[in-house]
Formats: sequence, C-alpha cells, structure tokens
Amino acid sequence: MTSDPKLPAHHLPDGRFRTPWPEEGAEERGGGGAVLRWQWERLTHGRAPDPPPDAFPRVEPRVARPRAPADEVRLTWVGHSTFLLQVGGLNLLTDPVWSRRASPLRWIGPARFVPPGLAWDDLPPIDAVLVSHDHYDHLDDDTVRRLHARFGAALHWITPLAYREWLGDRGITRVTELDWWDEATVAGEGGSVRVACAPAQHWTRRGPREFNDRLWASFALTAGGRRVYFGGDSGYFHGYPEIGRRLGPFDAVLMPVGAYDPRWFMRPAHMNPEEAVRAYGDLGGAGDFVAMHWGTFRLTDEDPLEPPVRTRAAWREAGLPEERLWIPRHGETRVVPRLAGG
Ligand code: ZN
Ligand code: ZN
Repeated sequence: MTSDPKLPAHHLPDGRFRTPWPEEGAEERGGGGAVLRWQWERLTHGRAPDPPPDAFPRVEPRVARPRAPADEVRLTWVGHSTFLLQVGGLNLLTDPVWSRRASPLRWIGPARFVPPGLAWDDLPPIDAVLVSHDHYDHLDDDTVRRLHARFGAALHWITPLAYREWLGDRGITRVTELDWWDEATVAGEGGSVRVACAPAQHWTRRGPREFNDRLWASFALTAGGRRVYFGGDSGYFHGYPEIGRRLGPFDAVLMPVGAYDPRWFMRPAHMNPEEAVRAYGDLGGAGDFVAMHWGTFRLTDEDPLEPPVRTRAAWREAGLPEERLWIPRHGETRVVPRLAGG
C-alpha cells in the first residue's frame, strides 16, 4: 500500500480509513466467506435462546433537571450504547437509539428486549450528541430526525470524520467532525465540556456504501476537573495505555461488553468482557467501570444474559474493588464519585 507521508496512518489515500495496527484475530476471519460461515454455524449449532421479557429489569431514572451541577458526573443508561451523560453542567447523549429496532428497516432487524430506560418524553434539554460510528445500533435515522425536530440548532453534534453530509441530509448543520486526537468544546447554558476524539478498533459501513468511508472513534470528555471515557464500539487493541496517558485519568470508563460471539468472527471488532476489563486496566485502572453494548439488541450469538456474569467474574479475577463496577439496569442513574485524590 502506498502511503502519503503527510497522511495520518489511519487515513487511506482514497479518503477512506483503516486500522493502522495489526488486528489480533483478523487473519482467522479472512476471505469473503466469513459471514456465510458464521450463518452456517448458527444454523447447524443453534444459539442460546432469547431471554424472557422480565430478564432485564427497568428502574426509574434519577435525571437532574434541567441539568446537574458543573462538577457532577451523572450517568443514566437508556440501553445498549445510549447514555444520558450529565457532565460539566451539560446534558449529552451517546449513540442515541430510541427506535424499536437497530435496523435500516422498521419491520425487520434486531428488536429491543426492553423499551428505552429513559422515555423519550422524559428527556431533559439536550446540549450535544456524540456519535461513535455509523452502524445501525449506534446511529439511528429516526432518533436523529426526532432529536433534530425537538432540539434543532440548540443541539451540537460531535462525530468522527465524514458524517457531515449524512447529518446535513437531515437538515442538521451544527456538526463538529473530529479526527483521532482532535478536540472541540461544547458549550451550553449550564457550562462547557471539552470533547477529545480518540482511536478505537472497529470499522464502518452503512447500506450499499464502501467499507470504512466514515471514521469510527471513542471519546474522552473533560469538564470541571472530571473526566469520562466513552469507548464506542471496539475490539481490544494496544492503544489504551496511550489514551489513558493523554486523556485520563477517568472518573468513569464506559466500555462495550457484549456482541462477542462467535469469537473467531467478532474478535477484531468487539471486545469480550475479559478484554473490556483489561482495557480498563490499560487506561489507568481507576474510576467506575460502566458496562454497555449489551442487554438491548440481539446482534450476535452469545447468551444475552452472559455479558454481566462474565464482566463480574473478570472484575473479581482482576482483584478490582466491587464498588467501582457498575453494570447498570435499564434506566438506572449513577452519580459517579470523584477519583480518590482527584
Ligand atoms: Zn459497530
Ligand atoms: Zn455496536
């Protein structure tokens, strides 16, 4: 591959993006037959059944209204990778999905096990939205349109590179696109938050487009002496120590723990719980671990009830303090304690 010395390693000369380091496990899935092999395995081996409807309890959110104090970090889990982050006196949403399905179509595709933990009508005023990448379980057309209709230009959209056109097609113009390690400030009535874009190991594709013509990312937020890391969607990779050094230490680390089986296929793109706990250690091993990307949409083959069990086991195995592990219930709110000495 010819590379332009002026181009960052994750940029391709044709404008697309790539993972600029070797992906562990990528060779095992090589070739074009991987999706077929996965589907064939599923047909021949079956997979764990869907959980009963009452398997995922829903609790009443404790949202600060209209906003939390500037030095408070208050997180509410809506489901999957959607959180209301009350940070720096602002209200931010991550990868907002309120639709019933994570799909380009309304009548087919993975449907939620439970309704959103925070009802649409109960949303406080939202100042900004963080979008980690373009997959349907993270970037939902209906939700984007509804957010724009409701909050309009008050809403600041923060994305990795190459989302401006897609959002523009929906009438959204207040967009800040960030490359890895770029930063921007989100300011609103209640305060301001510094948002840094950081690497993740993933990929993008939506509809009939080329692979990786939009960037994927994680984000680190800083405000009022508090720091929050939102891991987006990612396989385990060796970049976490650098993210921790440059952007930490974090009061809260939101990490994906679901959508990991079959391992031979999912490993480059999705961490399993053990890897997520390891990444938390790499990032600095302090602050609350917040488990996300599970318990909402059935995307892969593992038992949907397994991610929290394995996350707890990996946490104990690593000898980490019980009170720092938060596996939220749908709708649950947590006021994140300050880092010791922070
Ligand atoms: Zn994804
Ligand atoms: Zn995902």
